[in-house]
Amino acid sequence: EWQWMGNLVAFTLAASALLQLGAALLALRAMPHSGSFRYPWIALSLALALMVERRVQPLLQFRDGAADLADALLALLISALIAFSVLRLERLLRAIRAHEEQLTRLATTDALTGLANRRHLLAELEKELRRAARSGRPLSVLMVDLDHFKGVNDRYGHAAGDAALVAVAGRCLARLRAIDLCGRIGGEEFVVLLPETGAEGAATTAERLCADLAGTSIDTAAGPLHVTISIGVASHLPRTPQPDEAADEETQGAVQALLQRADRALYEAKAGGRNCVRVAPPMLR
Ligand code: GH3
Ligand code: MG
Ligand code: MG
Repeated sequence: EWQWMGNLVAFTLAASALLQLGAALLALRAMPHSGSFRYPWIALSLALALMVERRVQPLLQFRDGAADLADALLALLISALIAFSVLRLERLLRAIRAHEEQLTRLATTDALTGLANRRHLLAELEKELRRAARSGRPLSVLMVDLDHFKGVNDRYGHAAGDAALVAVAGRCLARLRAIDLCGRIGGEEFVVLLPETGAEGAATTAERLCADLAGTSIDTAAGPLHVTISIGVASHLPRTPQPDEAADEETQGAVQALLQRADRALYEAKAGGRNCVRVAPPMLR
C-alpha cells in the first residue's frame, strides 16, 4: 500500500517539477517579445526559474513513509496553472508585438505605393533637418509631380493611373540610396529626402529620375502608358554646426520653408514646359 502511494507521490512531484521548469523556460523564451514591459517580464522569468527549486526540493527530501499526496497534487496543480498561464501570456506578447508592428506600418506608409506617407515623411524631414543643423552638412528635397496626370486618368482609367503611381514609386526607390527617403505626400505628388546632399547632387539625382521615366513606358492592364514628371529641388545648408538648443530652434519653421521653396521650383518646372527639373535659389540669410 505505502509503496504504491509513495510511487504516486514521487511521480506527481516529478511532473510538477517538470511543468515548473517548462514554465520558467517558456518565460525566458518570451522575454525578447516583452518590449517596453521588459523589466516586469524579466522579474517574472526570474521568479519562475527560482521557483523550480521549490518543486525539486520535495523530491530530494522524499521519504516513502512520509508521502503527502494532497500536497504533491496541490504542487502539480499550481505548476500546471503557471505553465498554462505563461504559455498563453507568451502568445499574448507575440500578438501585441505583431499588432504594434502592423500599426506602425499603417501609420507610416502610403497604402497604394508602400512609400512613406505624408506624416512620416514630414517627421523624418524634421529629424534630418535637426541632424543637419548639428553636423553642418547640407540636406536636399525633391518635390516630384506627375505631368498632366489628369489626362492619363481620363485616357486610361483610374486603375491604370494607380498602377502608374505605383510604378513611379518603384522607379524612384530603385534610383535612390538607402539613406534617402521617398514619400507620397499627395495624390500624384512625391517628396524625396536626400540627406547629406547639396543642390548640385540633388539636381543630378532629379535629372536622372526625370530621364528614367521619360525614357521608358509603364505596363498597365490598360496597355503601356507613358508618364513624365517635373521636379523642384531645394537645398538646406545649415550655417555652422549648432549646439542642440540652437539646432532645435533653427529646425522650427525650416521644414515648411524648405518644402515651400521646392514647391515654387516645381511650379517653375511646370511653367518651363514640364518633364524637367528646376532648382530653387539658395536661401538668403
Ligand atoms: P500638372 O502637369 O499641372 O501637374 O497636371 P495634372 O493633371 O497632373 O495636375 P492636377 O493637379 O490638376 O491633377 C492631378 C490629378 O491627379 C487629379 C487626379 O485625377 C489625379 N490623381 C490624384 N490622386 C490620384 C490617385 O490616387 N490615383 C489616380 N489614379 N489619380 C490620382
Ligand atoms: Mg500633376
Ligand atoms: Mg499635383
